Amino acid sequence: MSTRTDTGNHPADPAPPPSGEGGGPDAPRAPAPPRALSPSRAADFMTCPLMYRFRVIDRLPEKPRASAARGTLVHAVLERLFDDPAAERTPPRARSLVAPAWERLLADRPELAELFTDGDGDGGGDVGGDGDGGSGDGGDAAAAGAAERLAEWLAGAERLVERWFTLEDPARLEPAERELFVETVLASGLKLRGVIDRLDVAPTGEVRVVDYKTGKAPPPEYAADALFQIKFYALVLWRLRGSVPRRLQLVYLGSGDVLTYDPDEADLRGVERKVLALWEAIRRATESGDWRPRPGRLCGWCDFKDSCPAFGGTPPPYPLTGVDLGLPQPRPAGAGDGAQGRMDTA
Ligand code: SF4
Repeated sequence: MSTRTDTGNHPADPAPPPSGEGGGPDAPRAPAPPRALSPSRAADFMTCPLMYRFRVIDRLPEKPRASAARGTLVHAVLERLFDDPAAERTPPRARSLVAPAWERLLADRPELAELFTDGDGDGGGDVGGDGDGGSGDGGDAAAAGAAERLAEWLAGAERLVERWFTLEDPARLEPAERELFVETVLASGLKLRGVIDRLDVAPTGEVRVVDYKTGKAPPPEYAADALFQIKFYALVLWRLRGSVPRRLQLVYLGSGDVLTYDPDEADLRGVERKVLALWEAIRRATESGDWRPRPGRLCGWCDFKDSCPAFGGTPPPYPLTGVDLGLPQPRPAGAGDGAQGRMDTA
């Protein structure tokens, strides 16, 4: 099983994407041009082109985020629960999977321990502490504080897992796929990829794409933005399999909401046009080195303020100056798009 890229609750999604797209704390440090697009990185560019540059091209380091780590943890538990027989997929059983899943995550990413030792968290309110570095009057007090913060954080993860049972009944589900890595190459050469949380296939062959979110459902005026990611997955599946998924379903564990959407071909062609237009903008910025900051409410989450002109910082020298980029040239979506691709259960 590969470590997934959580897209569940932190809008900036600092977890590392699949190789070739750059970004994230575990990514190789060498700057590189973008070669592929995932929903998370597309969202980064739409949020702030400069943030996209720092994350994907410069690959500047980012701090672990408690909320992102908890999203990864909760996704792992929901995925793992389906290994059990249907009758055993109960809330107590799911809660019991949280601590072992955390141990595995910590073994994969030891740096996550610092989320609790310094009390800094990510400002999301799910890890307590005052952020003073924990250098006070003794190791015992610091250790106790860290243990308390971790316990509180794990309890929060357990509550999210438990809420899932109010939204879906895993005893009545037999997913066709979990943590499915999908990738397709459009005729333009643009590679689209992502990890789908769950695919359900009805006896009739109809496909439902399910994405878990550990945050809260957005207000109605932001529903279209929320659906972009899952429509992106639907586009990739459509191009891979030749049929449009019947239903897209976002499961918001933070607020206990389910958002569904039934796409058609026209929808997905529209998504494809949007993705190609985004890629064209990314390609131009990559070639020109003109990456504009776009200050907004997410700046509060951004680790790059010290390098951001909008906050008085100076970006590092653009690392791709004079580099032969060889980026795929987007073309309008056509009948031949999506001829290549692959799917792997992660
Ligand atoms: S601080 Fe704001 S404007 Fe600057 S790079 Fe980050 S998100 Fe963009």
